[in-house]
Amino acid sequence: MTDCLFCRIVAGEIPSQQVRAGERTYAFRDVQPQAPTHVLIVPREHYANAAELAAARPELVAELVADAAAVAAEEGLTDRGYRLVFNTGPDAQQSVQHVHLHLLGGRSFGWPPG
Ligand code: AMP
Repeated sequence: MTDCLFCRIVAGEIPSQQVRAGERTYAFRDVQPQAPTHVLIVPREHYANAAELAAARPELVAELVADAAAVAAEEGLTDRGYRLVFNTGPDAQQSVQHVHLHLLGGRSFGWPPG
């Protein structure tokens, strides 16, 4: 999809800070990080959200999670842990309609913050 931001990032038409490049998936740093590590992992193929991906290519959901775990290990997050998030739809503030798994780590997500 030529008008999809993440399709264009995957195609290399828009620059990104690459973290991991797989045959079917691509991981890059979020431009507005919400944590010391904030990486987005996407399938190269376009699907609008996690449910559509799960319905069409369930093995790719597993691959995104495995990639996230590998990136977390590379970033030294395995012991303390990390958060994985798929935002879906307007109430969840999904702003890019190409499924992406947020990997967030390097701080505590307890409430209240700090
Ligand atoms: P969501 O709100 O779940 O759709 O997440 C979209 C994410 O994409 C946000 O966290 C944005 O900061 C991030 N984002 C938007 N444009 C870019 C870009 N060009 N490169 C990297 N991350 C981006």
